[in-house]
Amino acid sequence: MTSEPEQQFGVGAPDAFQRLWTPHRMAYIQGENKPTGPGADDGCPFCSIPAKADEDGLIIARGELVYAVLNLYPYNGGHCMIVPFRHVADYTELDEAETVELADFTKRAMRALRTASGAHGFNIGMNQGTTAGAGIAAHLHQHIVPRWGGDTNFMPVVGHTKVLPQLLADTRKMLADVWPTV
Ligand SMILES: [Zn+2]
Repeated sequence: MTSEPEQQFGVGAPDAFQRLWTPHRMAYIQGENKPTGPGADDGCPFCSIPAKADEDGLIIARGELVYAVLNLYPYNGGHCMIVPFRHVADYTELDEAETVELADFTKRAMRALRTASGAHGFNIGMNQGTTAGAGIAAHLHQHIVPRWGGDTNFMPVVGHTKVLPQLLADTRKMLADVWPTV
């Protein structure tokens, strides 16, 4: 009876590491808060977040053209994203100044995560297009996922689960407090 493949492999314990390494699951949001309006940026969460206070929007830092924000559905503690203020879908659509600041904020996020959490490594990247797994394909965002040996420090691996708001609030403050200003 237990030799059925589905029984052997279909309902095993969730494997957080497998999830972490599965790029198509690197979505910001699944099934909620997706843009719904007719306009280019109607209902886009990445367009509406900057209008909120940092604490409410989980914004870690604001630049001139991009901002850093915590992911509501993190793959690891401290999983954040660098997002251009401008509603742009494709990386090639970024102008030079946006490209430069997005890269600069990626570096700052790495430094802040190392300072705050002692991250050993990072997974960094963008999903371009819904086919590639972008949860909000219409507004590009660079994921920065800190990694630790064993991924047990700082916070538990949460594997695409919405974590407690207070945990996110604490994480945001920790990173904002050590965000490099230069
Ligand atoms: Zn947008």
